[in-house]
Amino acid sequence: MASENTKVKSWQTQGTGTGFARLDAEAFPTFERGWVWLVGAGPGAPGLMSLLCYHAMQNCDVVVYDALVNPDILRWVRTGAELEYAGKRGGKPSPTQRDISERLIELAQAGKRVLRLKGGDPFMFGRGGEESQSLAKAGVPFRIVPGITAGVGGLAYAGIPATHRDTNHSVIFLTGHDASGKMPVNVDWAAVALASPVIVMYMAVKNLGDIASALMQGGRKGEDPVSIISNASLPQQQVAMTTLAAAGAFVEANEPPTPAIVVVGHASDWRSLLDWYSPSLKANPIG
Ligand code: SAH
Repeated sequence: MASENTKVKSWQTQGTGTGFARLDAEAFPTFERGWVWLVGAGPGAPGLMSLLCYHAMQNCDVVVYDALVNPDILRWVRTGAELEYAGKRGGKPSPTQRDISERLIELAQAGKRVLRLKGGDPFMFGRGGEESQSLAKAGVPFRIVPGITAGVGGLAYAGIPATHRDTNHSVIFLTGHDASGKMPVNVDWAAVALASPVIVMYMAVKNLGDIASALMQGGRKGEDPVSIISNASLPQQQVAMTTLAAAGAFVEANEPPTPAIVVVGHASDWRSLLDWYSPSLKANPIG
């Protein structure tokens, strides 16, 4: 389709490279000193990060990153920027949310351009809400750069559409963990069981048996398909299929690798037809 739009035209390349060099010259928002950018890096495959994420990596002074950020993505951080890990390491307790927020504020107030890099989307079970709240309270200016969340992009890499008109007109995202690691009690599981044909669960592998029981008690059918997508979009991606009634025993027996997304409902039926992420594609380092 020919474009009349000069802006689109000016970004066109010959189609032989990545075009990144051309894009760098364009009017990306300036990453100002003393700012924090809270950026989602996507579920894992480097190619799923956004142009703004790439831009931030090229223009930051320090990257504060989480365990779920694929280390391959960090290769794109400009030489000279510092890398600070903000997750659990070597059995040591992970820094508290308060520690991380305070560190972000400290770095920003020291005049750094701070890239807070998170897996997936910063506002989807990623504590981006809490961190930006602390920044706002401290008067630190920030920008939020959304990312592709595992609960959507991870499903796509498993050939499972989060919505499909023949399957579901709604989808529920929920976490299978509360702050203490237990199954969240402030969720109305009976309501969730029947509210949507498809339920996408983050951090749900450990408590899957309890969650499945709660959903079945709430009226969800035991034969409902369940997919467990481990390491979505990464070369080591694995997808396991079970049913709601069998899910607890399945997880105990098979210990699916984490991180993993759990999908309840007939969206998973599409996978037999739509599973496109073949072993040969998995060898590609970008996605
Ligand atoms: N902000 C992230 C979610 C953080 S919570 C996002 O938007 O995706 C962490 C949970 O996300 C994990 O326990 C897992 O359920 C899910 N997750 C993140 N990356 C994943 C991946 N590559 N494959 C499968 N699940 C993933």
